[in-house]
Amino acid sequence: MADIIQLLPDHVANQIAAGEVVQRPASVVKELLENAIDAESTEIKLIIKDSGKTLIQVIDNGKGMSVTDARLSFERHATSKIRAAEDLFNLHTKGFRGEALASIAAIAHVELKTKQEQDELGTQIEIEGSDLKAQNVVVTPKGTSLAVKHLFFNIPARRNFLKSNAVELRHIIDEFHRVALAHPSIVFAMYHNGSEIFNLPSSNYRQRVVNIFGGKTNEKLVPVEETTEVLKISGFVGKPEFAKKTKNEQFFFVNNRFIKSPYLNHAINSAFEGLVKDGAHPSYFLNLTVDPKTIDINIHPTKTEIKFDDEHTLYAILRSAVKHSLGQFNIAPVLDFDSDPNLNTPYDYKDKSVATPPTIEVDRDFNPFKEKVSHGGGSSKPVVAFKKQNTSSWDSLYVGLESKSTQQDHNFSEVEFESDSKNETLFDDSQTETTQATYQLHNKYIVSTIKSGMLLIDQHRAHQRVLYENLLKNMTVKEAVSQQLLFPLQLHFSSTELPILIQLKEDLESTGFVFSSVKDHTIEITGVPLGVPESEVSIILEQLISDVEQEVPDSNFSATDLLAKSMAKSLAIKTGQSLNKQEQEHLVNSLFACKEPTVSPTNKTTFITMSVDDIDKKFM
Ligand code: ADP
Ligand code: MG
Repeated sequence: MADIIQLLPDHVANQIAAGEVVQRPASVVKELLENAIDAESTEIKLIIKDSGKTLIQVIDNGKGMSVTDARLSFERHATSKIRAAEDLFNLHTKGFRGEALASIAAIAHVELKTKQEQDELGTQIEIEGSDLKAQNVVVTPKGTSLAVKHLFFNIPARRNFLKSNAVELRHIIDEFHRVALAHPSIVFAMYHNGSEIFNLPSSNYRQRVVNIFGGKTNEKLVPVEETTEVLKISGFVGKPEFAKKTKNEQFFFVNNRFIKSPYLNHAINSAFEGLVKDGAHPSYFLNLTVDPKTIDINIHPTKTEIKFDDEHTLYAILRSAVKHSLGQFNIAPVLDFDSDPNLNTPYDYKDKSVATPPTIEVDRDFNPFKEKVSHGGGSSKPVVAFKKQNTSSWDSLYVGLESKSTQQDHNFSEVEFESDSKNETLFDDSQTETTQATYQLHNKYIVSTIKSGMLLIDQHRAHQRVLYENLLKNMTVKEAVSQQLLFPLQLHFSSTELPILIQLKEDLESTGFVFSSVKDHTIEITGVPLGVPESEVSIILEQLISDVEQEVPDSNFSATDLLAKSMAKSLAIKTGQSLNKQEQEHLVNSLFACKEPTVSPTNKTTFITMSVDDIDKKFM
């Protein structure tokens, strides 16, 4: 039989490698920025168009390349950074695989301009899908400019796989942050579609963090410094009260290289244990310096994973260094009578006025000596009887269906519901309309009767469904009502968060938000959707940002849908919230007026039914 094995042509091999190295525009950004740093640049500019789908360009003032090197740089495994296998254990550069440029040039249109200091003229090279299209002598400043256009032009599947501009830009900014944080002394600038997003002067580490994450960051940083034989730690952790819903302020750098390490992350979390709420993530910006011989970065082409020789020791040192800092800066609870009172005052209360004294509700009907026939064991009653609402629901449980609700307060005004087109077949009309056949169980479920038996509704999920459908409708017909705020609300966001909100601005407006200005790190809001309390606005927006970030990679991104889901989640009645009869009924009716009442917007069951037969069986 004839031989069938062949060596793949270079351009095919490059395309395959590109699949590993270049997952999305942000991967290109990372490779180009790292090359600029390896070239000892002191100023680096990143220019992006359409979230990298149209253009990614990095311009540096580094050492540039000779004519031959310029050509060679696009060959696979062509690198100036290592020469022998031993060098792998003593790396001082970001790159070393010599794969990036070859891979990128295989799947995009690339234009390189480069000049070394001593040369009069520079070199310009154009490559499209590994094919050399042009090579010229050009006038160009010292350093290198690499422009990558039409990424994935020859791999439509990849191109289609890219997510919305908001998400891709988010990834690019993440990469930019990582590189810029690791090199505070280098000047960085970033532009997107012609507008400047970052302009970072050469500075110290603290200033770099503040320049990236906004002026307010300064007050929340707690320094962490530790030097041991195996490890040097320097950097900052955020004070616990500033812990965030998202993980986008968590950075580890090992020898100036950004890395992800769930294990070391755990060390930090355990140092913060008891100081942050569940689900909140402390910020950290930590640089670890170790002997390059004790780590192995060669695990993955994109190099965010790393293997340490002695992880356990690093864990212990890191945890204790962070704990120590938190304690030293009065963050961890210590018995200290002279402590700064500001530290102990919850931030929410600090600026609140006390113009309206707290109201105290007294149950005037309460008489501990009055007999209540339906309750047995009168001695324990007074404790329960203080809360009027509780007693009334207990009463209705005992007295049963004839007790009509007397409560008139209708404070259930989140968003207007429609309840006219009730699902007739499911409900026994005579029961739901004439009697108060709902009951709230553990402030979590609503029990209601239906023809065949009973219905158990998860209040949080059900309300999410109702709000979700309403929001979607409002957004598509664009007739949401907004309520004007007396004083504009100013909210601060980091430069990572801001672009996400800007991308979603139009959709947010269609729900009733009115933005009066967006500048620097601040958004000014003058109107909010009807029924949305002002105090909830920042929570809604933060949740939204976190939802955009955590969006599952393959799902089809629809900004409207995500926004509706996210807002529904934030605004829905929570588990634990007590509802009066009218609210309960309203919720039940609204749920069954929905198009898809059976599941929540995230596809979780909203209610279960139990037929009388089922119940009968339980009594057999
Ligand atoms: P690696 O960075 O792993 O060496 P790359 O494919 O990223 O591989 O780059 C190949 C080579 O091209 C580098 O080793 C370097 O010599 C040269 N090079 C790439 N970018 C630049 C740049 N911005 N300035 C100077 N030289 C560069
Ligand atoms: Mg490289």
